[in-house]
Amino acid sequence: MQPGRAVRQAALPGLQRGGIVEEGGVGGTDMAGSILSAMPLRLPLLAGLAAALPSLCAVCRAWQSRRVCADCVARYSRAAPRCGRCAAQVPAGVSRCGACLKHPPAFDHTVAALPHAYPWHRLVAALKFEAALDLVGPLGERLLCALQTDGAGPAPARPLPDLILPTPLSRQRLAQRGYNPSWQIARWLAARLQLPARADLLLRHRDTLPQLSLPPRRRVANVRGAFEASAAARPVLQGRQVALVDDVMTTGATAGEMARVLKAAGAAGVQLWVVTRTALEDGRRAPRARE
Ligand SMILES: [Zn+2]
Ligand SMILES: [Zn+2]
Repeated sequence: MQPGRAVRQAALPGLQRGGIVEEGGVGGTDMAGSILSAMPLRLPLLAGLAAALPSLCAVCRAWQSRRVCADCVARYSRAAPRCGRCAAQVPAGVSRCGACLKHPPAFDHTVAALPHAYPWHRLVAALKFEAALDLVGPLGERLLCALQTDGAGPAPARPLPDLILPTPLSRQRLAQRGYNPSWQIARWLAARLQLPARADLLLRHRDTLPQLSLPPRRRVANVRGAFEASAAARPVLQGRQVALVDDVMTTGATAGEMARVLKAAGAAGVQLWVVTRTALEDGRRAPRARE
């Protein structure tokens, strides 16, 4: 991973190495920006305190120093063969799923750290709906590990992107929740990979219906027009490779729409980094991902 990053960063003076721009932009004064710009000061402090104290493993409840113990990570995070484009599980030796061969999505590649199954779907739900921000590190670590192996075992890692973006929330959802879980993970990864992260380039106009509640033919229409590149986006995205971070990926239609908008605004490539990926598009055998 290292050589690709070094080459690309040297060639891109416009991006500040490791710079992180919050939702609402630098010094943003809108509601979303003010909430988010206040939180980062406290979050690392709380996360640092939590890491220094012994705690219960979030999965097996054993006392130890890590929020998810090494035994649980080893037991529940075995790599599975996945489609290189959308990270759907595929039989061993298959590099693309049938859906991606038939209708290639607008994103180029997906790295999924974990299946959306026990215990990870519970941890993602706790991060998303219960403000369990102490899980950002353990889940971020799984994604970092998947990036190093490209999510599928011994495959060589790809060059790093130029820029990391979170999947945006609408203003209303952000105000309700007070934080964006995808942004928390994106920032965590950006700090470790020393890459810039921007939460002010891709905006979400409106909330959409949960994709799994809709028949496949309505999913694209459901997300069409929900996202927009901000006024600041075009010069920053021009010719750049972007990684879009999400906590969970279900059908891929939402990610496809975000990738389409980013490419229309000038991004040269869009890859997805997701913590969990549902096993089946219809969710019959996988736990449903709440959106
Ligand atoms: Zn454990
Ligand atoms: Zn696929």
